Amino acid sequence: MEDANDSLFDSMLVDSSSKLIQNGFARSQSSEECVMFVNVGGEATNEGADGVKFLSDTFFDGGDVFLTNEAIVEGGDYPSIYQSARVGSFSYRIDNLPPGQYLVDLHFVEIINVNGPKGMRVFNVYIQEEKVLSELDIYAAVGVNKPLQLIDCRATVKDDGVILIRFESLNGRPIVSGICIRRASKESVPPVPSDFIECNYCAAQIEIPSSQIKVMQTKSTAKYENKIKELTMQCELKAKECYEAWTSLTEMSREVEKVQMELDQVTFKSFTTELTAEKQAENLRSISNRYELDKKKWAEAIISLQEKVQLMKSEQSRLSFKAHECVDSIPELNKMVYAVQELVKQCEDLKVKYYEEMTQRKKLFNEVQEAKGNIRVFCRCRPLNKVEMSSGCTTVVDFDAAKDGCLGILATGSSKKSFRFDRVYTPKDDQVDVFADASSMVISVLDGYNVCIFAYGQTGTGKTFTMEGTEQNRGVNYRTLEHLFRVSKERSETFSYDISVSVLEVYNEQIRDLLATGPASKRLEIKQNYEGHHHVPGVVEAKVDNISDVWTVLQAGSNARAIGSNNVNEHSSRSHCMLCIMVKTKNLMNGECTKSKLWLVDLSGSERLAKTDVQGERLKEAQNINRSLSALGDVISALAAKSSHIPYRNSKLTHLLQDSLGGDSKTLMFVQISPSDQDVGETLSSLNFATRVRGVELDPVKKQIDTGELQKTKAMLDKARSECRSKEESLRKLEESLQNIESKAKGKDNIHKNLQEKIKELEGQIKLKTSMQNQSEKQVSQLCERLKGKEETCCTLQHKVKELERKIKEQLQTETANFQQKVWDLEKKLKDQLQGSESESSFLKDKIKELERKLKEQEQNSESLLKQ
Ligand code: ADP
Ligand code: MG
Repeated sequence: MEDANDSLFDSMLVDSSSKLIQNGFARSQSSEECVMFVNVGGEATNEGADGVKFLSDTFFDGGDVFLTNEAIVEGGDYPSIYQSARVGSFSYRIDNLPPGQYLVDLHFVEIINVNGPKGMRVFNVYIQEEKVLSELDIYAAVGVNKPLQLIDCRATVKDDGVILIRFESLNGRPIVSGICIRRASKESVPPVPSDFIECNYCAAQIEIPSSQIKVMQTKSTAKYENKIKELTMQCELKAKECYEAWTSLTEMSREVEKVQMELDQVTFKSFTTELTAEKQAENLRSISNRYELDKKKWAEAIISLQEKVQLMKSEQSRLSFKAHECVDSIPELNKMVYAVQELVKQCEDLKVKYYEEMTQRKKLFNEVQEAKGNIRVFCRCRPLNKVEMSSGCTTVVDFDAAKDGCLGILATGSSKKSFRFDRVYTPKDDQVDVFADASSMVISVLDGYNVCIFAYGQTGTGKTFTMEGTEQNRGVNYRTLEHLFRVSKERSETFSYDISVSVLEVYNEQIRDLLATGPASKRLEIKQNYEGHHHVPGVVEAKVDNISDVWTVLQAGSNARAIGSNNVNEHSSRSHCMLCIMVKTKNLMNGECTKSKLWLVDLSGSERLAKTDVQGERLKEAQNINRSLSALGDVISALAAKSSHIPYRNSKLTHLLQDSLGGDSKTLMFVQISPSDQDVGETLSSLNFATRVRGVELDPVKKQIDTGELQKTKAMLDKARSECRSKEESLRKLEESLQNIESKAKGKDNIHKNLQEKIKELEGQIKLKTSMQNQSEKQVSQLCERLKGKEETCCTLQHKVKELERKIKEQLQTETANFQQKVWDLEKKLKDQLQGSESESSFLKDKIKELERKLKEQEQNSESLLKQ
């Protein structure tokens, strides 16, 4: 029992120099100088005989006072001090102590918890903040109402003069009944020996108070050692187990770390995957946006294209309708074409007929002309001029039968001489009347006959007037050309005419070119070409295309005639002025070409030279004039006599006119006369010459035909004339109808052409439109295909993205689940292990306690044994 208490006290004591004793305060105890004794919770007492003085409780801080009347067992010399105590959370501060070494005694007693149990009140005590008592359990140590003293606790008071005593609760409330402070003697304060034991396992230094060592040394050291050994072994085992547990824990934590790392990696992976998924989703969004935009655009384009196609279709249908119409109209057209062809055929026939008719007409016309006479003589008498009238001249010409071509000359006396000509013009007849009869002969030149028209007569009788005329009153020359142009224009569809003119003058048997601009360098001579035609090489042939050209040319010739002469009239009366119209004809239907000439001659005056007795140059002139006029008369006589030799070459005049005198040629002579009685001689002479000329064609036999026969012939002629007229009329009608048909045919041709062109144009348009439509349809289909392709790629992309997302999710889920599972497993393992180790450690603790208990028992046993 003693042993157990000792070991308990040892375990409570910290300061090896202090002691715990189990009885009350005794007088003999205070060998050292007692500084004060505080009766904690109690009253102060006066110093008694034994010299102990108790102070009242004054130095406390906190806590409560507790008093008891219970008797204190083994209470020492002053048991009453144990009947009061301070309890709770408190400390004591004792001031004003001289510095130095002190000893502190503390008096405890359990007076409150009288029914126990152990461990109800456990507390530590500190003096000067050094633990002096550890886990003090008064009840466990001494039981109730029994004093327990802690004595000889060293306390060093420094310059502040304070001793601080602190009570610290571990369980329940600390309690104290008395505090005694004593001054320590020098010997009572030995240096504190303190030993340290090093732990074999954890190398920690465990302080062992020297008192304990002393106790340990003194009491059954061997047993302790054995126990210690045992315990050490057990401890070793436990340590080992602990170490193993620690290593497994470390491993576990490593694994946990690893798992954590893996988890981190997976998290990172999932994060990156999420990022890529987001990116892809973004991409997909942009792609789908673009796709939407493209789709919109394409849809718009398709709509516009469809509209265009619609338009084109409608256009095409319109065009095809038109084309159908055209095609439908083609049979009609064909009919028309057929009709036109028929018409053309008819036309051709008519043309042939017309050509035939024309030739016939020509022939007939020629026959008529011939019937009229190839040589015709028209007599024209000028009016009396002012001079004649003023000089009292009288008219000797009788025009009573002028209509029948007869005129009479009242010769000297009362004798009257009659003359008959093809036509007789009175002074009243104007230029128009004169040309009206000449025009039919003029036309012969366009039919390819040579024609010669000349004016013969005394000077001043109007030759030049008849041929040239004046500007206001134009003559035969101008009118002839005008008429030729008009007729050639009328015939322009069947004939083309090329007309040119030359103007010559024959004076003194010399030819002069009146249209030559420069001086006559060479003498002009008459030549005969290979065709037998006579011409004057080097003569100007002025081409005339219209009537205005003609007038310029004629004026030029007329002006040229006047040059080199003082007296124009005189000169002109002694020279022959010859206008030659050359006509080249081309028959446009058969390509036949002809060349013909029309001579218009203003002869020199025919007056007799004898009348004017002249000599020298004048005589030569007169002789030349006589010769040429005589030659003309001779040629005509020879032609009339059908002589084998016609003396054309006797004069330049007849030589030049050779082609136009005789044969098929037509000759018209205007015999100009003066009405004056003054000129009656010359008039008779001219009329006789003309009569001779006119008589040329008449057959000598026919000449002698009696008047009855003549009448018959006349009637026949009239009949022929009327027939001719009717034929001409019918011809004209035919020509008109032909022209009408031709124009109609042309119109139809034109319509046909236009229609064909239109058809071609429409066909071209249709082709173009069709090709355009095809193209646009192609484009549409291409676009549709592209759209489809894009849609497909988009779909596949979306599908892929979905797949990826799904995969990522799955992976994430599985991995997270795996990791969660692993973590859980690990945590579980860890927990298990921890629990295991805890249970083990508790088990070990229990064992240790058991062992300690056993040890104590054994100690007690050994003590009891020792006591015995
Ligand atoms: P020729 O040429 O024969 O010498 P002209 O022609 O010079 O004669 O005529 C002489 C004149 O007589 C001119 O003044 C002309 O105007 C005039 N004369 C001639 N014939 C006629 C006629 N039929 N009517 C009016 N005047 C005329
Ligand atoms: Mg004249």
